[in-house]
Amino acid sequence: KTGFIALVGRPNVGKSTLMNNMIGQKIAITSNKPQTTRGRIQTVYTDDRCQMIFVDTPGIHETKNKLGSYMLHIAQKTLEDADMILWLVEPTDFIGQGEKYIIKQLKRCKQPVVLVINKIDTVKKDQLPKFIDAYKSELNFSDIVPVSARKKENLDTLMDVICKYL
Ligand code: GDP
Ligand code: MG
Repeated sequence: KTGFIALVGRPNVGKSTLMNNMIGQKIAITSNKPQTTRGRIQTVYTDDRCQMIFVDTPGIHETKNKLGSYMLHIAQKTLEDADMILWLVEPTDFIGQGEKYIIKQLKRCKQPVVLVINKIDTVKKDQLPKFIDAYKSELNFSDIVPVSARKKENLDTLMDVICKYL
């Protein structure tokens, strides 16, 4: 199995850290190919079950200027073309306007959408269920995976989930 995975998430949520720290979990080939029609290829991972091609998705937020509209168009294209979508959030990201806008875009997607809650090392475990419920009530995610990219917590579970839906 092989597929393109669109990575969605605001700056600083830990996208690069997640990519980097998945190396070492499994055999990985990193690549820095330029823009393809499916977006910018960040990293290619191969294990005995599947090949995952991660594609960077530029910021998804409401905008009024031309450059912003162009970026949004690219982002929407990337989502459309992906085989699967990962949305990275932090446990402190309550659902505000920015999140609602992303949810609106994700609702149109027919592919599996997985919510990845990163930086779980920064909160108490008993705070997660409430957070998860809030997101669940907004969108029917294929799966929800809490991780700590920095501490490499639960990254193997994330790999399993990706392989399952790819
Ligand atoms: P990006 O902008 O989405 O690519 O985010 P980065 O990967 O550059 O990470 C932004 C900041 O968050 C960096 O200082 C990371 O070290 C930190 N960070 C990333 N993942 C985690 C995590 O799981 N836990 C904690 N505590 N910090 C993290
Ligand atoms: Mg980054």
